[in-house]
Amino acid sequence: MAATDCLRSGWGGHLSLLLGRHRDSDDLRSPAINPAAIRVRILRAVPAVCLIVGVAMAMDYIVTILLLNEPAAYVPIATLVISTIIAVPLAYWLAGQRLRLETMHAELKASLDAKQDAIEDAEVALAKYREVDRLYRLLGDNLTDHVALWSPLGERLYSSPSIERITGYTLEEFMALPPAALVGEADFRRVQGIIRSLEPGGEPVSADYESLCKDGSRIWVESTYSLLGDGSGILLVTSRDITERKRLELDIAKALQMAEAASAAKSDFLANMTHELRTPLTAIIGFAEVLRRSRNLNKTAARQVGHILDASNTLLSVVNDVLDFSRLEAGGLELDPAPFDPAAMASSCAGLVAERAEAKGLAVEVRAPRGLKPMNLDGPRLSQVLLNFLSNAVKFTSHGAITVALRQTIDGDQAVLRGEVTDTGIGIAPEHRENIFDRFSQADAAVSRRFGGTGLGLAISRRIIERMDGRIGVDSVEGQGSTFWFEVRGPLADLPTQEAVETSPLDADAGVRLLLVEDNAVNRELICAILEPFGVAIETANDGVAGVEAMRQGHYDLVLMDVQMPMMDGLTATREIRAMEGARGASTPIIAMTANVLPEQVANCMAAGMDDHLGKPISPAKLLEAVARWSGRSHAA
Ligand code: ADP
Repeated sequence: MAATDCLRSGWGGHLSLLLGRHRDSDDLRSPAINPAAIRVRILRAVPAVCLIVGVAMAMDYIVTILLLNEPAAYVPIATLVISTIIAVPLAYWLAGQRLRLETMHAELKASLDAKQDAIEDAEVALAKYREVDRLYRLLGDNLTDHVALWSPLGERLYSSPSIERITGYTLEEFMALPPAALVGEADFRRVQGIIRSLEPGGEPVSADYESLCKDGSRIWVESTYSLLGDGSGILLVTSRDITERKRLELDIAKALQMAEAASAAKSDFLANMTHELRTPLTAIIGFAEVLRRSRNLNKTAARQVGHILDASNTLLSVVNDVLDFSRLEAGGLELDPAPFDPAAMASSCAGLVAERAEAKGLAVEVRAPRGLKPMNLDGPRLSQVLLNFLSNAVKFTSHGAITVALRQTIDGDQAVLRGEVTDTGIGIAPEHRENIFDRFSQADAAVSRRFGGTGLGLAISRRIIERMDGRIGVDSVEGQGSTFWFEVRGPLADLPTQEAVETSPLDADAGVRLLLVEDNAVNRELICAILEPFGVAIETANDGVAGVEAMRQGHYDLVLMDVQMPMMDGLTATREIRAMEGARGASTPIIAMTANVLPEQVANCMAAGMDDHLGKPISPAKLLEAVARWSGRSHAA
């Protein structure tokens, strides 16, 4: 029997065991009740009866015949009867006594055996307990963390010796220290608050704090507090030295700060570089446009101006791609979903490449099924992808046709929009199809030598589509053509009813008076060259201060405002103009005309009180359109 069973049942268990045996012996001792017992007692009594009767017969014979020699007195039958009458109950009683003694002996033996078993079981249990106790002590003594038990009255019940490794205090020294000796006052109060809030058997609560060591140094400690759930009210505290972890956390925070600073510096650098590259491009593209529009050029000069325009536009798209890609790499692409019309997007993208396609003799066809529904997605970014597909299709196709196809699969209030651009161009070898979507990746060196390009367009497109959780890919047969496609999912939307702004072309007789605030003389000349043929009367100011002064004095229909200028920048100048009380300037539309084209820079212009934004390099068509649109209106806010 196991010790536990023995203890659980106690001596009562043995008693019942013995009683079990008693039942057998009781049976034997209760002849009235148990015929088997009577049988046993009778069987045991028979030899005694025979012996007594035999002895009585023998004694009768010896005394009557041999000693007294009175054969007449010898009546064996009487002796037999009398001795049998005496012997039977006597022998029966003796057999009963013997049986009782045997039973008592058996009971005693069983009881002793049971006691012996119980003692052995208890010894095994005690040995086990001693081993567990030894292991617990070993554990407590060798813990790297510190474990402490506190009574509900705030007395230390136990502290593991590991306290010496952590704080330098020996266990005895530590046990004698007051509870608040190693922590600052504020931390002590915080920890007391935590302890007060604990529930018996509830979730443990952790806290970090600085602790003082015996040698005066400070370490970071993380302690976890819990109240035991056994009703004892004992507080269990486990503490560990987390100085190294804290140091790493501080290092990581510092590294993160440095990375953020580096990223901010990179963004600044990009913003500056784009500004610096766009400013000269403004003059190159702008004057080339002015020249191309003039009727005074001979054929050769017109062709050469065309080359300047093509080359500078290519350079501009490279600058745009590099800027875009860097922003995407830095994770800085914020999507701006708004209701847009996919069919209108496809037509306008096709329109943008139509001239280049026509020059190569390529037809561009748009296939958008009737009833395509507007969707709530970042339309301009999708246009960028479609335009990239289209530009490549024109670039890599020398004959045949280019098709833009849109398909929409509606699913409740959501839809999947698939856009495809198919060409009959050079196609792409299977081994290049995957990596052309990687940055700076072109199908092969021969292609890049022949067609140029940066290898960024598709990488940008892929990042845009992935940012929209969509899919992008290409199907192609080398030498026969390619189909570039994307699929994006988004909610269906209603297009807002457009405020009907009729923009009639700029009327030369309207006599628009315009203030141009621009520090760059070449740009001033360019704007005048574009606008003056349309009867616009332009006054110029060379910086923000002169611009504000001109607004105070003059009367203009419109202001074109550069942003980066010496003395006073365009944003400050705009704010000052808007603040002019009662002056006409407060309501004059102001259009930003700047190489600062990042979304946050455009937003800054609007926040300063401007009405519109024209990015440099200035497109003459866009400038004319903006002047026509704004010259008859006033500032909205
Ligand atoms: P880029 O056109 O400036 O080189 P892209 O990222 O737009 O950069 O394209 C990467 C490469 O993919 C191209 O250099 C070209 O090898 C291949 N490619 C893209 N579009 C087509 C196309 N329509 N037909 C054949 N090859 C293409």
